[in-house]
Amino acid sequence: MSKVFFFNIPFHGHVNPSLGLAQELVKKGEKVIYYGIDSFKEKIESTGAEFRSYGDEFYLDDSFVTYNLTELFKVHMELTELIMDKLLCDIERDKPDYIVHDSLATWGKCAAAAAGIPAIDTFTTLVLAPDGFLLTIGFILSFAMAMITNIPNVLKIQKIRKDLKNKYNVRIESLVDILCNKQGLNLVYTSDLFQPNRQALGNEYKFIGPTSMFRKEAIPQFNIDKRGNRPLLFISMGTIFNNNREFFDKCTEAFGNMEMDVLMSVGKSIHIPSLSIPENFKVKPYNEIPQLEVLKECSIFMTHGGMNSTHEGLYNGVPLIIIPQQQEQAHVAMQVVRTKSGICLKNSKITPDLLKQSVEKIMSDHSYRENALKMRDSFIDAGGPERGVKEIFTYVKQKKIHFSVSEIGG
Ligand code: UDP
Repeated sequence: MSKVFFFNIPFHGHVNPSLGLAQELVKKGEKVIYYGIDSFKEKIESTGAEFRSYGDEFYLDDSFVTYNLTELFKVHMELTELIMDKLLCDIERDKPDYIVHDSLATWGKCAAAAAGIPAIDTFTTLVLAPDGFLLTIGFILSFAMAMITNIPNVLKIQKIRKDLKNKYNVRIESLVDILCNKQGLNLVYTSDLFQPNRQALGNEYKFIGPTSMFRKEAIPQFNIDKRGNRPLLFISMGTIFNNNREFFDKCTEAFGNMEMDVLMSVGKSIHIPSLSIPENFKVKPYNEIPQLEVLKECSIFMTHGGMNSTHEGLYNGVPLIIIPQQQEQAHVAMQVVRTKSGICLKNSKITPDLLKQSVEKIMSDHSYRENALKMRDSFIDAGGPERGVKEIFTYVKQKKIHFSVSEIGG
């Protein structure tokens, strides 16, 4: 049995896919110590891993939303600096054999490098450049813009980068490295088929397929209340970008008189009684909807294109209507369009009419469902958590041999 430290960021979209992997590591006899914040304790413990808090200084939680890239870089650097001493102290005491960290958990890569132990990176997003980051025109432009307009953040980031080098001798190669943290083994939670430009990526990337559907969460008591055999449309903008009241109003207007049941998941700041809710609608806050269960009954999924939601929909063979809220989701939407497993709508172009027409289009063309089922097959073939754990074991074994040979070599 080996001991594993698992580092993640406290967002459902990142924690959910990791749960299947953590669960499988535990099943294979590993002692997994999984770091997080208290609100994720129950989720993490459901895998059989030991939950450990990042501590009071760790100020990030799932209410954090930013469209400013330098702000994101700064937060990750600040957090790394804040908790490095604690993590290194824990490593010294518990002596983990290896670390698994999310691609956004910069502190995971830094702690592994400072302590000299093998580490594995996990990607909840698509890999859009060989160095693991979303290197696209859209990204480069917003990156350049953010740098020019946020000089104090840039200076702060550079200072922390220098301090980490001086204090722990860890090098953060570039700004992009803060948000991809590439390792010798990088597990990507999607399939080769869904990943764009797969052939441009090296063998250090292993596409193990989506894993968020393997989580065993305590499912909230929930009745879908479908009436007869009517199709079910599920609308969800995920756990972060879910407070756009105007969008939900357009949905009630578009689908209110359609021959279907509609379940709509909304954010915590949407006051549900103030919505004008048609008779065929059910509206609930996102944390009360067991999405994995709902998707089993669903005919169409209208989503923001979060990587997990997209995977979970396709895994159930459900065609998608994606309305991306940011760059990363737009890339996910492009893959859904490429694989013809759904369609993409521009947020700024949404009208009740367009929403209605899109649903009618998906309902009348069965090829969307057939293609969604093909994606499902590619996800299953990718191997899931079992394959992920196999890849980890092989990699750690090689690393250990490498370490002991270098020790002999002095
Ligand atoms: N989710 C849920 N119920 C909801 C909305 C979302 O259980 O009503 C879960 C969903 O199953 C998925 C995660 O929350 O695993 C959302 O992750 P995703 O990457 O799709 O989007 P994010 O919330 O990170 O934007």
